[in-house]
This record gives sequence, structure tokens and C-alpha cells, in this order.
Amino acid sequence: MALDYLSLLNGSQAAAVMQTEGPCMIIAGAGSGKTRVLTYRIANLLEKGVDPFNILALTFTNKAAKEMRARVEKVVGPAARSLWMGTFHSVFAKILRSEADKIGYPRSFTIYDSQDSKTLMGQIVKELELDDKLYKSSLVLGRISAAKNKLISVNQYLNDASIKADDEAALRPKIGVLYQQYQQRCFKAGAMDFDDLLFNTNVLFKDHVDVLNKYQNMFRYVMVDEYQDTNYSQYLITRKLAAKERNICVVGDDAQSIYAFRGADITNILNFEKDYPELQVFKLEQNYRSTKNIVWAANSVIKNNQAQLRKDVFSENEDGTLIEVLKAASDNEEGKLVAASIFEDKMNGHLSYDNFAILYRTNAQSRAMEESLRKLNIKYKIVGGLSFYQRKEIKDLVAYLRLTVNQNDEQAIRRVINYPKRGIGDTTISKLITTADEQNHTLWEVVANADQFMPSRVSNPVVGFAEKIKSYIAVASKEDAFEAAKFIAKNSGMLEELYADKSIEGLSRYENMQELLNGIKEYVDDPEREDKSLGAFLQDIALVTDSDLKDAAQEGEAVTLMTIHSAKGLEFRNVYIVGMEENLFPSQMMITSRADLEEERRLFYVAITRAEKKLTLSYATSRYQWGNLRSCEKSRFLDEIDPQYVNFKFAAGPGAGESPFQHVFERRSNLVPVAPRKVQATKYVAPADFTPSDTSNLQSGQRVEHAKFGFGVVSALETQQGTTKATIQFEEVGEKVLLLSFAKLRLH
Ligand code: ATP
Ligand code: MG
Repeated sequence: MALDYLSLLNGSQAAAVMQTEGPCMIIAGAGSGKTRVLTYRIANLLEKGVDPFNILALTFTNKAAKEMRARVEKVVGPAARSLWMGTFHSVFAKILRSEADKIGYPRSFTIYDSQDSKTLMGQIVKELELDDKLYKSSLVLGRISAAKNKLISVNQYLNDASIKADDEAALRPKIGVLYQQYQQRCFKAGAMDFDDLLFNTNVLFKDHVDVLNKYQNMFRYVMVDEYQDTNYSQYLITRKLAAKERNICVVGDDAQSIYAFRGADITNILNFEKDYPELQVFKLEQNYRSTKNIVWAANSVIKNNQAQLRKDVFSENEDGTLIEVLKAASDNEEGKLVAASIFEDKMNGHLSYDNFAILYRTNAQSRAMEESLRKLNIKYKIVGGLSFYQRKEIKDLVAYLRLTVNQNDEQAIRRVINYPKRGIGDTTISKLITTADEQNHTLWEVVANADQFMPSRVSNPVVGFAEKIKSYIAVASKEDAFEAAKFIAKNSGMLEELYADKSIEGLSRYENMQELLNGIKEYVDDPEREDKSLGAFLQDIALVTDSDLKDAAQEGEAVTLMTIHSAKGLEFRNVYIVGMEENLFPSQMMITSRADLEEERRLFYVAITRAEKKLTLSYATSRYQWGNLRSCEKSRFLDEIDPQYVNFKFAAGPGAGESPFQHVFERRSNLVPVAPRKVQATKYVAPADFTPSDTSNLQSGQRVEHAKFGFGVVSALETQQGTTKATIQFEEVGEKVLLLSFAKLRLH
């Protein structure tokens, strides 16, 4: 049955779907249906009888490809399964699997992940006797990756005067040599890294016209989503593939280009116009995703960028609620406010946790959020990243801490005995383990007395390690968990190791380490905490690392947590953007130039436009940094949103404000009262002497008074893992579900 496109699409969208022949480009605002157009375009081609094998659709993430395939399948049935659809890397890896022999690689080539690449680079740096602090693997690989994405080969790299000057200025003149060695070693090992997949596809198409021809004939229709984030290498591949049939359709939004730091190049859009003078351009201006307030707010932000194609995006959806801004006293407090807000919006709006997403600029920010969500028993999933306690650097430091508390923890010994590197090789470690087995000792006993089991040349570093652990045991017996952990992080060499790594990933690991120490500091600073020892802290997080994570990983309804970068293209009913502070967002690292600041602003634009109905922004006035509470300034981006679309919601004096979870704020005296706009007046005004009662014995049927909602009767109580929810029928505002520990209630 033919699809009625005109009922599913607006005029411009339908025109773009029908225009199947020739080059076309849709550069349009967020939520305007670009991805939807691609999906229906594919459906239309299939309906017209095009073979699914002749269609290539390139998406930015595997998840996006899966979603698109599912949507097409809904429309056209199982034919969708034969489409060529996926990320650039997955599609061209598949092609190289059948063609790699033409460029000298085995077809069964291995794909190196970033860890493999790092290990290999580490070895090469060592063999060439270079300083491994200066030639940090991740940094060198970053330079190589940038070169590959611009299709700069080893020979070009070695012979380019300006690259040479750059590397010399950075005091790293040997990067070219490292690039050469690295490529030779990969080639010999029959391996390609991620960038090689694209680089080698380009080589294949350049050197083997017959192969290029074959794929040009095969991919008669080429489509690219999120075109603004393609790099030069990707641009060239699509150009070559489409050169013959010229049926190429790209969609994107220059205002959402957020991968310049990985080599994405906005000039690809401009090049496209030059490459295809017969180009058809479609404009989509209506946003179908978000409320008017959200669209207007997003427009008011992106207007601050100079380097932007002008676009007027509008919405015909309802105005919706104003954008809420939450102000918290600390990052933990921020987590609590966000979690409480999610809980109450879910209960009062009868939503599912799938409707909510929390977006942050850096991975380290997930910790405070995860902790608060767990405390309210709210399930969550972390997309595109590991849960905080599963990250390698966190597990490493936690292993040291565990070992300090329990020397029989064999897994912990194995994990850190040679991390950071201290000259204890794998053979020595195996020897220690077999000795312990054979002689019926614990591994720790053998490690601590290694000099009795092996020659001193081998045993010295092992004994040195044991001495370190013993000194940690001594510190932990005198100091609280924070002081002990800080000492261990420094003394073990972990901090220094992470600090030296200046790559983006390295920075993120350093931030995570800092965040773990912040968490421990907050743990010991809690006035209600009696046992502040390292052992008590570990016990607390052991619960997190085992049971909660399993729960959180379960399928089903869950709040999504992710970085803004990985949220591109997605949509959620309610979105929280947390950490709206200077130096965090915009990131301190990224605001050294106007161009960088504009990229951060585009990132903010991407974040705002993920929300369908409700957008909440939050910031903390202080944040722990290395265990010290630092004050933070709110982000300049908050001031860039036209204030008429914003509700600064930290209004909090008794009786003031319209916050549905105001009772959460009210217990915090340090939140500043500000009169909110558009207050929906309730008749109830809390008496000046309002004092909450002890609600530990609250019963159904009890009449209560709430500091904001007024009088009501408890209709149900439910306790789950220590958290009690009360359903209360209020006389003026109707039914509300409140968390008892936050709600200020007076019994009557
Ligand atoms: P982004 O820039 O964030 O990638 P996009 O331009 O790709 O956004 P889509 O994800 O395709 O936008 O569409 C946004 C939402 O609007 C989707 O839920 C989509 O189904 C819906 N939508 C788009 N066009 C229409 C339409 N004509 N009628 C109804 N819903 C639409
Ligand atoms: Mg899209």
C-alpha cells in the first residue's frame, strides 16, 4: 500500500522526499524533521522499486542507524533489512572486509580499539628511547588521528614544512617518525585503527578505479544524516561514491556542529554547494519536537553566534511551561534537586522514567546525579559511557583503597601491583601467584615477603609496592577516608600519571579521579556520619558497584544519563541540563578563542533542542574540587536565554513560588528567594509559625498541612528501600505524591 506522504509530512518535507534524483541538501534547524525526511525518502525509494542493496544511508551512531532501520521496516517491511545503513566506520569496515587485499591488508584484518593503539604507541616510544612523558601515547595518537582525518599520509606528514614547524614548536619533533613506525607496525600486524578504516577506504577508491566503479554502481542513492559533523575524509568518500549517479542527499544543521575538536569541518557544507551546482536545497523551518518556549529559547541562544547561517525556526506546538532554572548550593544538592524534580514530575504527570534525560558537559558530573537517583530508587541508564564506578581510573583507585583495608583482596593486588608501572612484569606476577598457590600462602603474604621467594633484582619493586601499601594502612588507621584516599592517590603515582595525559580522554579521567575524591570528601563532611573511616566508605560504595549497577543496567524504564555530545539527534519529553556554570559549560578548556566559545554555544543549542515539553537547567554555587569547596559562577549561557522564556525557580521563602517540589528547596536556607514570574496564586499562605512535625509514624487518613499546598489528607503511604512516598489529597491543589523525607508537613 502506497504511503500518503502528504499526510505524514509538511510541504517542504514531502518535496524533499519526492525529489529522489540528483543532489539535494537540507540544512535546517533542530527538530524540523531532517531525520524523518531521510527515513521516508528511503521508504519512498523502496516503494518506487529501488533495490534496498542500492541504498546507502550513513548515520552518526549505531543507535541512530538501528532506529532508522526500525522505522523504515515499519513502513516497508523486511526489505529494510537489506539496506546499507550504519555509521561511516561500520559500513566501510564491511567494505574493506571484502577489498582489503587490494591495498595489501588481509581481508581478515584486525580492528584496533583505542586501548590497542595506545599500547602499541607506548611500545614504539619506548623502543625509540623517547621521553614517554613528552610523547604521551594519547597525545601522539591525537596528532596522528587529526592527520588521518585530513588524509595526510605518513610521507606527506614527514615532508610538510608547516607540520614540522608545529611539532618542533611543541617540542615534539618526532611525531612524524612515530606516525611512520605506528603505521608500519599496524600494517605488519594486519591491523587498522578507527581512522584507518576511513583513510584506507579513500586509498582504495583512489588507487583502484574498478573497485570505486563497483561501489558507485551499487550505491545508486547515498544519504548522510548529521552532515555538519563529517570530517574531510568522510566528505571525500561520499563525494567519490556519488560522483557517477549524483544521487546524494545530505541533511544537517550548521548550528549543531559540535565535533570540530575531532576534525569535523563545517566547510563540507559549503563544498557541497560547489561540488553540485545543480543542487536542490530544501528549507525546513517548523520544529515539530518542542514547545514554543523551548524553540524560542534555543533561537535566542544561537543568535549570539556570528558564524551561523541564518535560520528561522518556529513551532506550532503549545507554548508549554517556561524553562526552569534550579540553583543549588553544591553539586550534591544539585543532584538531589534534579532527582526530586524527576520523581515528582513523573508521579504527578503519570510519566515513565524513559521520558527523562539528564545531560551534562563532562562524564565526571554523572556521579552526583547517580547518587541522588539511587537514593530515590530511580532507575537510570548511562548511554555511551560507563557508570562512574565502572570506569577504569575509578576502579584503579578503588583497588588501592580496598587493598589498604583488606590485604587479602587478590583482585585488587593484581589490578594495581604494577599500576602505575613500577617494573613488575607479568612473569613476576605469575610467579607470585603460583608461589602463593603452591606454598599455601595468601598472595599478599608472598608479595610482602617477596625477597624470600625470588632474587632481589626481581623482588625489590614487589617489596617496594608492599611497603607502600603498609604505609597506606598506617595512614588509614589515623585519618578519615578522605585524607587517606588523597594520600593514596598522590603517593601511588596515579594522580601524576593522569595529570600528565593531556588528551581529551586523559582530561576526563583526571576529572573523574577528582570527582571520586570530592565524593569521599562529601561523605566524611556529612555531619550525620559517625564512621568516617576508609572501610566504612568502601562498604558504602561496594553496594553501589554491585547490586545497584545490576539494577540500573536492567532493561526497562529508566532515566537516561549522557553527555550532550552523545545526545545529538535524540529527543526526550523532559530534559535536564546540569552544571550550567562558567568553566564547566562553557568548558574552561574550550573558551580560549571565539570559535571555541561558539562551538560550546552550539553544544548548548543541541542540548536545549533535545527537549519536547519541559526543559530544566541547573547549576551549583559551589562544587568540590580536590576536596575543597570552590564557589562557582553561573554560566554566561544562562544569561543569553531571553528571560521571558525562563522561570528562575529558586524562589523559596515559605509560601512563595509555584514549584511543584518547592518543599525540596525549602529545607535549604541557603537558597535565595526570588519572586518567580507567572505565579499561579494559591489561596493558601503558610502561617508565620509553620513548623514541620515528625512524620515517622504518619498514617493513612491523617490530616496534614503542607507549607505550600495547604491542607490535605494522606490517602496512601508506600515505603521502598527506606524511602517513603505519601499520596496526599490536598483541598486546593488536588492529589500530590510527595517524598516524606523532603516534604514539610504539619500533623493536625
Ligand atoms: P535534529 O536536528 O535534532 O536531528 P531532526 O531535524 O532530525 O532533528 P527529527 O528527529 O526528524 O528532526 O524530527 C523531530 C520530531 O518531530 C520527531 O519526533 C519527528 O517524528 C517529528 N516530526 C517531524 N516532522 C513531522 C511532521 N511533518 N509531522 C509530525 N511530526 C513530525
Ligand atoms: Mg536528526
